[in-house]
Amino acid sequence: MVEVLDYDVVIVGSGLAGLRTAIEVKRRLGDQVSVAVVSKVQLMRSHSVAAEGGTAAVLYPEEGDSYALHAWDTIKGSDFLADQDAVWLMVKLAPEEVRLLERWGMPWSRRPDGRIAQRPFGGHSFPRACYAADKTGFFEMQTLYGKLQQYDGWDRFDEVYVTSIVVEEGEFRAVTALDLSSGEMIVFRGKAGVIATGGAGRVYRFTTYSYSATGDGLAMAMRAGIPLKDMEFIQFHPTGLVPSGILITEGARGEGGYLVNAVGERFMKRYAPEKMELAPRDVVSRAIMREIIEGRGLHDDDYGMDYVLLDLRHLGEDKLNEKLPAVREIAIKHAGIDPASEPIPVRPVAHYTMGGINTDKYYRVLNIEGKWIRGLWAVGEAAAASIHGANRLGSNSTIECLVSGRLAGAQIALFLQKNAREGAKPPSKSIVEREEKWIFDNLLGGRRDGRSIYEIREDMQSIMDKHVHVFRTREGLLEALRKLRDLRSEAERAYPEDKSRIYNTDLVAVLETRNMLDVAYTITYMALLREESRGAHYRLDYPRRDDENWLRHSLSILHGTEVITSYKPVSITTWKPVERRY
Ligand SMILES: Cc1cc2nc3c(=O)[nH]c(=O)nc-3n(C[C@H](O)[C@H](O)[C@H](O)COP(=O)(O)OP(=O)(O)OC[C@H]3O[C@@H](n4cnc5c(N)ncnc54)[C@H](O)[C@@H]3O)c2cc1C
Repeated sequence: MVEVLDYDVVIVGSGLAGLRTAIEVKRRLGDQVSVAVVSKVQLMRSHSVAAEGGTAAVLYPEEGDSYALHAWDTIKGSDFLADQDAVWLMVKLAPEEVRLLERWGMPWSRRPDGRIAQRPFGGHSFPRACYAADKTGFFEMQTLYGKLQQYDGWDRFDEVYVTSIVVEEGEFRAVTALDLSSGEMIVFRGKAGVIATGGAGRVYRFTTYSYSATGDGLAMAMRAGIPLKDMEFIQFHPTGLVPSGILITEGARGEGGYLVNAVGERFMKRYAPEKMELAPRDVVSRAIMREIIEGRGLHDDDYGMDYVLLDLRHLGEDKLNEKLPAVREIAIKHAGIDPASEPIPVRPVAHYTMGGINTDKYYRVLNIEGKWIRGLWAVGEAAAASIHGANRLGSNSTIECLVSGRLAGAQIALFLQKNAREGAKPPSKSIVEREEKWIFDNLLGGRRDGRSIYEIREDMQSIMDKHVHVFRTREGLLEALRKLRDLRSEAERAYPEDKSRIYNTDLVAVLETRNMLDVAYTITYMALLREESRGAHYRLDYPRRDDENWLRHSLSILHGTEVITSYKPVSITTWKPVERRY
């Protein structure tokens, strides 16, 4: 039996972006509007709770910060691939978001005079990252959830795994989902749909991302014929803790931490003499990899990993406890190292998906011709409105989640008012039946005749860690594509061993791994096509940025084994691209 539920708004994802969208719809239309928030994990377990270091916004123009400076830092950080009009919109809406959160109860860290404190972050030329110790995302999620609970007329569906987005006649219709606790299928019909499914960090093994960041929304979008934008740009954060990959926040360098190599040298002086450790992430990650490749790294024999050191000892125990308590706790618990007395082993780690679902600056989802898919928005990390271009600055993501949620929520409210009398159009029966048949007959009913899905997943992650990393080459990318192609066909024959209905995590692993393989293949394919180096995408065989040929966004839709590609211009409204120096 397929249950059909009708809502005005269906939001897939309960991270910062999903919750902020729900709040904005509710602030504007109150109880008259019905909202479903669907999440494959418990609401408060979305990856957003792990955000540590801060949220960027211009709060103190009288001290020298400005919208223009925030916009310029972001655009330069993006290696000029950001859409400049989208960046301006975000930086102008950012301060109000920080203050709204404060009003809703957010315990921002404070200056001695009681005003909101800010810390330096990589690539920002003013200390504008607002923070709550080093647990910023956790407190932001608590605050948004608390606010949302003031409203009636919304339902949360935790542990409900969405399997497809239904778009028909150019319009959003519904999503199909599997209720993990019962094993039954649910169709959520909505007048408006929001994809807030986060990033795809788990296509890599060494990653800061929680297990749930499997890029489902991106893969589902492509299956619905929706293009992804700029997928070749994956951010590697410079300081992943060795060996686990847990993030050591950039806040640690913001508070004064140094990076040193095997001979104790602060090597960033050779790569970014001015900004040093606070250059943007792509620059610092490349510097660390160069040190390692040129033999000035350290080596962990047990895990076969090369690394450099992050030294926080000079900050002293009191500052560590006050400003970076989570960093200290993480290093002690997960590496057996107390940063108050020993430097921390770190190396670049997969951290953010700059690309995502193709949207305009208002986060409306666009098809490959640039036409709005009526009733559909994408927000947060799943979306690519092109704020971050080829490289995101730290603390710009959580603020994008808030701003995009607010923008989408406000438009959804208008959209619903204008179309008040229209009911949600039902998706055609055949689409729902096809999805049902695929999951229950094909996947649960099928016999496994191939390798375990877990082995396939590990192989994919190793390939991505090896070939689609900080430094890329044509040979490596071709090799990765060939192997990923094989893994995709193996995954088609890998069925869940567990055939039960209730909490079938084996089935979820199959669905997620297939999605990740689609995303990994698309990232690699687009990285192969882009024959230049820009931001986080660095080709050893094309080491220069090539504005003449490549100052443009890529669009991609994986369809079977083909990737349909197209390009579109970057919106350049204020600053012409110049060479990036730090
Ligand atoms: C360790 C870490 C630290 C970070 N620190 C910072 C920081 O200090 N500052 C900053 O600006 N950024 C930071 N970032 C980045 C930032 O936290 C994320 O980009 C942002 O929180 C993403 O939020 P989101 O709402 O888009 O998605 P997420 O919080 O990732 O939530 C995704 C949601 O989608 C749901 N979902 C996904 N697939 C499905 C499906 N198939 N069916 C149903 N539900 C689904 C999930 O259950 C979840 O609720 C950090 C990231 C990490 C990993």
